[in-house]
Amino acid sequence: MEISYTRYRIYRECPWKYKLLFVDGRKIAMTPKSSFGLSLHRALETWLRGGEISLESLLSALRSRWLSAGYPDEDAESRWYAKAERALTRFHGEEESRRTRTVAVEKEFIWTSGAHQVRGMIDRVDQGPDGAYEIIDYKTGPGAPTEEQVRKDLQMRFYALGAKRGLSLPPSTLTVDCVTAGERVSVPYDGAGEDSLDADIRAAASGIEAAAFAPDAAYCPRCDFRQDCVYSAAK
Ligand code: SF4
Repeated sequence: MEISYTRYRIYRECPWKYKLLFVDGRKIAMTPKSSFGLSLHRALETWLRGGEISLESLLSALRSRWLSAGYPDEDAESRWYAKAERALTRFHGEEESRRTRTVAVEKEFIWTSGAHQVRGMIDRVDQGPDGAYEIIDYKTGPGAPTEEQVRKDLQMRFYALGAKRGLSLPPSTLTVDCVTAGERVSVPYDGAGEDSLDADIRAAASGIEAAAFAPDAAYCPRCDFRQDCVYSAAK
């Protein structure tokens, strides 16, 4: 069984949701928010890979990687595009103050946990002047997490473990870069809990492999399928 972060997260949210998405092939419609976020990720990837550091090259990457799906009309899309330009212009100004160098962009890791393969894609890995590695994840929603939230963030911990075991890049720092909010939240990485996370990933992969898809109604109020799922407790 090969398990990615997305599959792991969704299985942990609700095994039945996992079945609807990955076994039955149900789709979640693109929204302005999700389309905007994907466009920013694509633009940053292209820009960082290109090696050209000007603001114009970043805005050009946004133009070329922008997705039009998910917006109700052209006016709405234009407003979100203007918001993306403002966010990336501010991001570009803040990039100039970084003392690290980027060593990986959209970097895939894969490692073996028991009988399973664990896969993931890290937005960015930087290296400081002291050689220490920083895992960076871009967030494109409004607001920023607290340091405590970053420290406990499941995705960041999943990526940190993947960087260590799959890429031999043991991280010293975890950073959530809130591109839209214009804030960066960094915390030192603490490897305590890696073994229990590894065991939980393995348990999820084994559950998926065994087709154990019992619904978990605790997640229903936030679920995309809450209106038509037969087990929904939030219709
Ligand atoms: S509506 Fe509830 S039970 Fe159904 S898939 Fe979503 S979280 Fe699971």
